[in-house]
Amino acid sequence: MSETFQELLRGNKEWVENTKQKIPDFFDKLAQGQTPKYLWIGCADSRVPASEITNSMPGSIFVQRNIANMVVHTDSNLLSVVNYAVKVLKVKHIIVCGHYGCGGVMAAMSNQKFGFLDNWLVHIKDVYRLHKSELDAIDDETERANRYVELNVQEQINNLSMVSFIQEEWEKGEFPYIHGWVYSLKDGLIKDLGLTKNTSKHLDEVYQYSPKKQVQA
Ligand code: ZN
Repeated sequence: MSETFQELLRGNKEWVENTKQKIPDFFDKLAQGQTPKYLWIGCADSRVPASEITNSMPGSIFVQRNIANMVVHTDSNLLSVVNYAVKVLKVKHIIVCGHYGCGGVMAAMSNQKFGFLDNWLVHIKDVYRLHKSELDAIDDETERANRYVELNVQEQINNLSMVSFIQEEWEKGEFPYIHGWVYSLKDGLIKDLGLTKNTSKHLDEVYQYSPKKQVQA
């Protein structure tokens, strides 16, 4: 058996020791429960780990990651995470974080077949279709892919804003805010796209739920 996976278990022991030295009651406190303020929806890419790149400790960020940080309304895994984060943990901020050089986005931009993955990538292709005129006008392929990454984050913010139980929270108050960020693999810096939302007003009317029009069960 390859010994490479053992490095993870060795690393875990080292991390426990280092953490205990720095913060003696760290594990006792965290074992009592979590109160993260943030939900992170990011890419599964191994180079974009939420806690590390934001210099955050365990317990700070509730995390959902998938290929190209997508919000797909039939993804019960993602919706369960979002529901728990919003309704139970009461996170104040949801961050959709894409990254330049995203393999999922670049695959979606191509006409190549990727087998089973095509069923996931098709959701990213939908974003291209929505922004075709802007993206087609960018000649440089890297620049086009970078803009596609940003527009994909924008559309995932829209997809989150369409979730009825998020709109329910907005009817009650201010939170959660949804932010759109893009991480650069080249310098490690995060760019805030300035797309923050805490209402559904930016959506087409058909997606805006009205409490008055709610069907009574
Ligand atoms: Zn990615």
